[in-house]
Amino acid sequence: MAYLNSLEEANQIIPSVLDEIKTEIAPLLNKGKVANYIPELGKVDPMKFGMAVRLLDGTTYQIGDSQTNFSVQSISKVFSLTKAFGVLKDDLWKRVGKEPSGNPFNSLIQLENENGKPRNPFINAGAIVVADVICSHYDEPLNTILDFIRELANNKQLKMNIGVLQSEKKFGNRNAALAHFMKSYDNIESDVNEVLDCYFGHCSMEMNCVDLATAFLFLSNHGVHPISGKKYLSASQAKRLNALLLTCGTYDSAGEFAFKVGMPGKSGVGGGIVAIIPGLLSVSVWSPGLDKHGNSLAGTKALELFTTKTAVSIF
Ligand code: GLN
Repeated sequence: MAYLNSLEEANQIIPSVLDEIKTEIAPLLNKGKVANYIPELGKVDPMKFGMAVRLLDGTTYQIGDSQTNFSVQSISKVFSLTKAFGVLKDDLWKRVGKEPSGNPFNSLIQLENENGKPRNPFINAGAIVVADVICSHYDEPLNTILDFIRELANNKQLKMNIGVLQSEKKFGNRNAALAHFMKSYDNIESDVNEVLDCYFGHCSMEMNCVDLATAFLFLSNHGVHPISGKKYLSASQAKRLNALLLTCGTYDSAGEFAFKVGMPGKSGVGGGIVAIIPGLLSVSVWSPGLDKHGNSLAGTKALELFTTKTAVSIF
């Protein structure tokens, strides 16, 4: 086995590792369950699989359906959090916690026990508070986040999937319940419908694996996007956001994900996962079939194989 120790070795190692992964995950593609609690998401072909790796020097490696757009869903919570963290700095943590929830991403129970303060920014309640922060600070909150995502991904063409957006709104009663509940604890400042429009809007954004890997590169480079040179977070903030990704980024199986994969990462119910290795790379994967926690089944395995075969991980 040839391990990856530096950027220079990537050309020899990563292309063959991606080939091996695609072959090895193939039997898993029909084992997961495509999310259909947002009915529009259920229309996606479960056999899709794509993966993209971007190095800090801009080199891209990709395989399979890496250029097919899909619904990023909860992965977009990382982008809204980055914006809100930049705005409120550490005051953000008065409104939302930093601990793993140990509960499903859309659970209501913990929120009552903890007086309307969500455990972390990656469960739905936490991301709704983050959307509220954006609503309080920008005249056009949704467009602000969408443009921010386009900038990070270096792709002006990115758009929301309107069918998914309508489906999210129509079947978003649980998210509406979370938002109203937090409003009753004064942890939502703006009008609840305005906040939900912002939240559903960024979740319904469509991106491909290359876009996502590009958009996460600043988190592998101390908050500075290595391609544009633009600084989005301080080095300390980027470190903290990565810590949250490791402990909370894959819902109530973040411990299992850290154990198996060994990278900070964020998943979404559209079947995407993006992860990073500080100082080295970002890697994204897409396979729509999910495990019982809402993480891509084959995608998680693909990332586990990636860190096993290359021996790069944060540990
Ligand atoms: N938009 C989805 C929801 O609110 C996001 C969930 C997810 O990807 N885990 O339910």
